[in-house]
Amino acid sequence: MNKRGFTTTTLHCDRAKPIEHGATHKPVHNSAAFGFASAHDLVKVFQGEQAGFVYGRQGTPTSAALEEKVTRMEQGFLTVAFSSGMAAISATLFALLRAGDHIVSSSFLFGNTTSLFETFGRMGIEVSFVDATEAANVEAALRPETRLVFVETIANPRTQVTDLAGIGELCRSRGVVYVVDNTVTSPYLFRPRDVGASLVVNSLTKYIGGHGNALGGALTDTGLFDWTRYPNISELYRKGDPRTWGIVQIRKKGLRDAGATLSPEAAHHLAIGAETLALRMARTCSNAQALAEFLAAHPKVAKVYYPGLESHPQYARAKALFGGNSGILSFELVDGVDCFDVLGKLELVISSTNLGDNRTLAIPVAPTIYFELGPERRASLGIAESLIRISVGIEDVEDLLADFGRALED
Ligand code: PLP
Repeated sequence: MNKRGFTTTTLHCDRAKPIEHGATHKPVHNSAAFGFASAHDLVKVFQGEQAGFVYGRQGTPTSAALEEKVTRMEQGFLTVAFSSGMAAISATLFALLRAGDHIVSSSFLFGNTTSLFETFGRMGIEVSFVDATEAANVEAALRPETRLVFVETIANPRTQVTDLAGIGELCRSRGVVYVVDNTVTSPYLFRPRDVGASLVVNSLTKYIGGHGNALGGALTDTGLFDWTRYPNISELYRKGDPRTWGIVQIRKKGLRDAGATLSPEAAHHLAIGAETLALRMARTCSNAQALAEFLAAHPKVAKVYYPGLESHPQYARAKALFGGNSGILSFELVDGVDCFDVLGKLELVISSTNLGDNRTLAIPVAPTIYFELGPERRASLGIAESLIRISVGIEDVEDLLADFGRALED
């Protein structure tokens, strides 16, 4: 099926295995527990000798169908679904790291991921934050005890584009796990496997779900990392095909023990959303490009950050790597123009913290998602106090430009 196009594959993926009553997509299975004809069969599933489901916290037929869909979209090996994107990140790292380990992370990260990494620091897992737009900065931070490198594709909210290929080559040559958060690009615009990622994070809440009606997250193992070289795999999971060792440990020590399970209803909503990812994303990218150009030409706007603008420092890299520049853009206002005044005049655009919704959303960054960092950390990360982040949706572009035009009028 992988030879077929992205949308065809996603639409018809559930039917690769027979579905009850000839249903065209996987129904919602709400059962928390699964019964077996014999206790011997129960034991076989428990011990991984037979495929099946034992208890909903570790997965259901509905979450498994979504996992398969994400695996195909990422052209990966296997996926585990979680209750949110943050659950996917925290449970994965919790499952793979031990006290004394070291992580190298991009300093340009979603704020809650930064907050999580600071918590790891208090648990004996040290994190070095570096400017990941240059692989050399990551290389300089590597230590013998570095277990993984963590980056985002297009950083939220300032849109820096990571040196994804350079870091991929570095991690491959040093045998370090390379984790790429693909949330902002989504597998329609970019597949981190192509640059050597070992593990791919997607917040399904965002573009893959797309409708802002369900939370979810996914962790995909691309199959590229040699887990026999990873010291933290438990003896329990060093069995069978070594390509499964990492993901089995993530499912057991991450999903099962942390319990951040995706509900069957949410899995179903997200799977339906995924069917139209390509269509929505194409519209999102063209709307975002038009809005970025409009804002860049506006006298009340001091700076616009969007990788589709030639003025963006990584414009050429984004063009080479991605099938589009996605829908996240941020901008600063000129001195004397109040961001709350502008946001207050928007009629169509919603003041909201989410991103990747079909509707266009706006948020003042410093007093919300970057509030806990304080003014000094914000300044060091290039987050201006007037920065506004926009998550561009799929509205008719004329309506969107008119709304911003009105909000920026005197
Ligand atoms: N990764 C990125 C890049 C994000 O922007 C977000 C949320 O905004 C997350 C992860 C977390 O996703 P969730 O809200 O589903 O936990």
